Amino acid sequence: MDTDVIIVGAGPTGLMLACELTLAGVRTRILERRTEPQRDSRALSLHPRSVELMDQRGLLDRFLPLGRTVPGWHFAGLRTRLDFSALDSRHGYTLFLAQARTEAVLEERARELGVEIGRGHEVLGLSQDDDGVGVEVRIPGGGTETVRCLYAVGCDGGRSVVRQAAEIGFPGTDETLTGVLGDFAVVDPQPGALDAARAGGVIVAPLEGGVTRLVYLDPERIRVPAREPVTLEEFRTSLARITGSDYGIAEPRWLSRFGNATRLAERYRAGRVLVAGDAAHIHFPAAGQGLNTGLQDAMNLGWKLAAAVHGWAPPGLLDSYDAERRPVGQSVTENTEVQTLLAELTLVAQYQRPAAALRTLLDQLLGMTEVNRRLADQVSALGTSYPPPAAGADPLVGRRMPDVGLTTAGAEATRVYELLTQGRFVLLSLAGDPALRESVDAGWDPRVTAVTANQYDEHADLDGVIEVLVRPDGHVAWATRTTDCGVRRDERVQALTAWAGAPG
Ligand SMILES: Cc1cc2nc3c(=O)[nH]c(=O)nc-3n(C[C@H](O)[C@H](O)[C@H](O)COP(=O)(O)OP(=O)(O)OC[C@H]3O[C@@H](n4cnc5c(N)ncnc54)[C@H](O)[C@@H]3O)c2cc1C
Repeated sequence: MDTDVIIVGAGPTGLMLACELTLAGVRTRILERRTEPQRDSRALSLHPRSVELMDQRGLLDRFLPLGRTVPGWHFAGLRTRLDFSALDSRHGYTLFLAQARTEAVLEERARELGVEIGRGHEVLGLSQDDDGVGVEVRIPGGGTETVRCLYAVGCDGGRSVVRQAAEIGFPGTDETLTGVLGDFAVVDPQPGALDAARAGGVIVAPLEGGVTRLVYLDPERIRVPAREPVTLEEFRTSLARITGSDYGIAEPRWLSRFGNATRLAERYRAGRVLVAGDAAHIHFPAAGQGLNTGLQDAMNLGWKLAAAVHGWAPPGLLDSYDAERRPVGQSVTENTEVQTLLAELTLVAQYQRPAAALRTLLDQLLGMTEVNRRLADQVSALGTSYPPPAAGADPLVGRRMPDVGLTTAGAEATRVYELLTQGRFVLLSLAGDPALRESVDAGWDPRVTAVTANQYDEHADLDGVIEVLVRPDGHVAWATRTTDCGVRRDERVQALTAWAGAPG
């Protein structure tokens, strides 16, 4: 078998996962049915945690110049914005960036790392046995073949063939409401119309190349099924109905209708087959979370699947992908349902007055620092925390490691995220234990990088922390505040074994 993992789908999730696997030395192949990259962009946002992930892999220099940073995002279209700038991150902003650009950067990186991307390859089905997975593919020019691999991952979107072939259920609700988007080369927003647009709930977003995106929910058209094509005439009529102006729109580049079908895979793993991104969760694109959640699924799964392929995964590690990421998928689908319900109430005549009062109330609540922070933590995904494996663990365990500044033993200035660029565990001693490297050399090199450093950025969560094991995805696996060297070394070996497997 010359492929370890086949990823189905070269969307953002599949590309990110391919980068993670290849970085970890896994022979990875993507099968993608499209012959060319997707030109139109559904998503426009990289929220703070996704930006942090790119930072942890040294990719920020590629992303930042392509987009525009904005200090917050909306929730349910409320006037008061979520304030990401107040969050505990070097990247307290959303990078406003078209999905096609995000995919292009990830594809470039994947190719550099040596991922084989088979475009024009449509996966038709798969079957698995004790030794691997057979993926049935329609190849370019016609004909089919079966490709073998150890594991297959469905990153093939909401209608995932992989999920269906693995008999993973996708319970949830069908679409009940649709919105419409249009990208136009010509838009003429008259002053009065823009004011009205805000009242009528039309979102106006400048894209690159002078193109403008308009998005709306037309109360008279929200029950039109997503599969019904959008016409320019319909767009003009709806805009005029909602705002009093058709914005002088012309030269449409893309018109699309999207719905609120909401579903979550009943499990993220079935034997040697896994699902990630939209293949695992779909929902209304409220607050721009789908692509971001997919990238974060990929970051969580990559190193665990690599450990399984290399044969050192501790028991339960691969299953922890489902245990950690499914609750996140559930919480994202739920918050989008709340936002959609609020939008719908605002549009339905009989609820309009109380809905307006509810929006005013929620706006006031969002003005309160604690409330704003709670929702900002969720939408930015900076608040994502995984359950600690055992009771009594340090409060840091499961949370994302803060990106504090450090000086290493060689007096070099660095920071935690710079230490993560190779996608390995980082065992960080903040107390200068000379035996640290020895512990790692005793069997966990190169899975784990040992670093002795002084912390030079203050951070309340790290007060008293002496040693910390950071997972390849930037979450904390283990931390200790004990000053007893003997106890610390025993705990260290236990933590390394529990997370990075038995010494090799
Ligand atoms: C209007 C709209 C706006 C959005 N805005 C945002 C936003 O601002 N922020 C955000 O985070 N998210 C947003 N989203 C959601 C986001 O676009 C998706 O969550 C994201 O594209 C999911 O990425 P993915 O890689 O999981 O799946 P996809 O992007 O769907 O990629 C799946 C890939 O698999 C391929 N494929 C499918 N079937 C097969 C097969 N059988 N064989 C081979 N290849 C196959 C497809 O061709 C495709 O390339 C928005 C969605 C919509 C509809």
